[in-house]
Amino acid sequence: MQDIIIIGAGPAGLSAGIYAARAGLSVLVLEKRYPGGQITSTHSLENYPGVAPTSGFEFSNSLKEQADKCGVQYRQVEVTEVTQDKKVISSDGELAAKAVILALGAQPVKLGIAGEEKFIGSGISFCATCDGAFFRGLTVAVVGGGDTALEDALYLAKICQKVYIIHRRDQFRAQEILVKRAKTAENIEFILNCAPTEFLGSLELGGVKLQNKLTGELTELKVDGCFLAVGYKPDTEEIKLPVALDKNGYVIAGEDMKTNIDGIFCAGDVRVKSLRQVVTACADGAIAAKMAQDYIEVSA
Ligand code: NAP
Repeated sequence: MQDIIIIGAGPAGLSAGIYAARAGLSVLVLEKRYPGGQITSTHSLENYPGVAPTSGFEFSNSLKEQADKCGVQYRQVEVTEVTQDKKVISSDGELAAKAVILALGAQPVKLGIAGEEKFIGSGISFCATCDGAFFRGLTVAVVGGGDTALEDALYLAKICQKVYIIHRRDQFRAQEILVKRAKTAENIEFILNCAPTEFLGSLELGGVKLQNKLTGELTELKVDGCFLAVGYKPDTEEIKLPVALDKNGYVIAGEDMKTNIDGIFCAGDVRVKSLRQVVTACADGAIAAKMAQDYIEVSA
């Protein structure tokens, strides 16, 4: 019996682990992929207060090291179910804890258009930092108008000959500073009010068919690669959870990280919230750990 089982080893889960372990609790973090979560694919983390610009990979490595030093235990395993009485069922069997923190994170969204599945891994990527080098000196497109799309485009502009940013509107969710940087980059071109309708090519991606949202006009754009940055969806589809979710699958919990089930808390991108950033994920993790600690003390 652990004091706390944390599911997910992104910034929220590892921060919760650090806070809980420092409070003297036994903590086990379970993760199906690798420590760090989505942030590992961010090439440059520039807005974490008090931390000099660093790569997402370096940031997550130091977070994991910090958690290890605090005594947080870690296991790579896929959790399939969490029960109301805080049993955690995984491919390794059943584990039990006095409190559970869901820090499941979120996954990149696909466009769901023709050719997408065929070219994932043969021209279509969800991670500029991971796959950008394959397109050195070539022409690529980035789809989306959020922070991820703009950051990816700026990163790719240093490697690729030409980068198109394809966005379905002419307003951006991305931070203004990123949009400004992209507008001044010589090899970045914006294609606005347009959305992809089909990916084209034979064995490898050769282009993308675009539809102008204002005129309906269809055009074809030749590209060697296409990076999809059209948002994330919570990682709650493949795990059976007793907690209430909103219509998009995010776990419903307020600023106290309490779900509707006693002793089950939530933190990070998987939670219903207005700002999904590393700093807000870490803050969620700290609060969830403290709330779990209080819960364990009261219910002892
Ligand atoms: P996002 O902010 O949700 O942006 C998704 C973009 O994709 C939007 O521009 C959206 O267009 C577009 N889109 C969605 N569905 C589409 C579709 N079917 N076809 C075409 N375009 C589509 O996602 P994100 O950029 O991945 O960011 C997720 C969160 O992580 C945000 O809170 C962001 O601030 C944060 N983040 C932070 C950093 C950082 O701080 N360094 C880096 C990356 C991400 P519309 O605008 O028209 O809806």
